[in-house]
Amino acid sequence: MQLRCDLHTHSTASDGTLSPTALVERAHEQQVELLALTDHDITSGLSEAANAAAHYGMQFVPGIEISVTWQHQTVHIVGLGIDPHNATLQQGLAQQLAFRCERGAAIAERLEQSGIPGALAGAQRYAGGKILSRTHFAHFLVEQGKAKDIRQVFKKYLVRGKPGYVPGQWATLEQALDWVTAAEGMAVIAHPARYGFTTTKLRKLIGEFRELGGMGFEVISGSHSHDEEQRMAQLAKQERLLVSKGSDFHGPDNAYRELGAMPPVPAGCTPIWHSEQWQQRMEMNQMSGKSV
Ligand code: AMP
Ligand code: MN
Ligand code: MN
Ligand code: MN
Repeated sequence: MQLRCDLHTHSTASDGTLSPTALVERAHEQQVELLALTDHDITSGLSEAANAAAHYGMQFVPGIEISVTWQHQTVHIVGLGIDPHNATLQQGLAQQLAFRCERGAAIAERLEQSGIPGALAGAQRYAGGKILSRTHFAHFLVEQGKAKDIRQVFKKYLVRGKPGYVPGQWATLEQALDWVTAAEGMAVIAHPARYGFTTTKLRKLIGEFRELGGMGFEVISGSHSHDEEQRMAQLAKQERLLVSKGSDFHGPDNAYRELGAMPPVPAGCTPIWHSEQWQQRMEMNQMSGKSV
């Protein structure tokens, strides 16, 4: 039996709808034994989640999901086991936050031009003063009756070619890897099948990622189909990447998959949490008594 784990989740610190405490409580109810919180470009939920996890005796891994622009497309890099107090990481995240503010204003302006006023204030209301994400715009647009749910609203308004789309200008792959490495974390390519890349292009991404010190590949993602999992597992084996698993849970009403509810890592793949690097890092964190 593999450990019941979930290494990719979101809270209200970014675009999830459960507080860090409520997320941990739900993970506990779902018998999750090893949990990472990986909010987008922000670490502010980690200490609350760590405290709640300690209360339940659950193993907790401080994480992050960093937005990257690679070859004119957005790619997400998850960092696991990061030290959130690291200055290099926090300086990098401050840059991402600034871009999110600028982009938010630009999204609202574009929506206003297509006859939807008040989107900045509306999205900020859902963001609660923390990072501003397209998901917050999506909640506002659903509230305004522009589509029936988050997924439909993205399709209609928030993706490339639609009225509320503004291209990302995120960190480079190199920067994201620098920040994760500086913070002593392990980098993972998040939901690799989501980008619509050909295998050749995915191999190119993996090549650059490994050169920069990346180690993990999220073969099992709540957003992957069974076929995609099989394809990604093949690639992970061929490229000798450690395999990660995460639901990408954003809340009970906006979930691909329940917390922890995923198949085991396929045979022949090494789960990242079984790796030597993982053990070393987790021991190091415990020995130094690092708090999050
Ligand atoms: P942002 O980082 O602000 O550009 O927002 C990206 C987030 O929007 C992702 O992490 C997802 O939570 C959400 N998202 C992106 N595309 C979709 C989609 N097609 N349907 C639903 N949610 C999406
Ligand atoms: Mn999200
Ligand atoms: Mn993502
Ligand atoms: Mn995510």
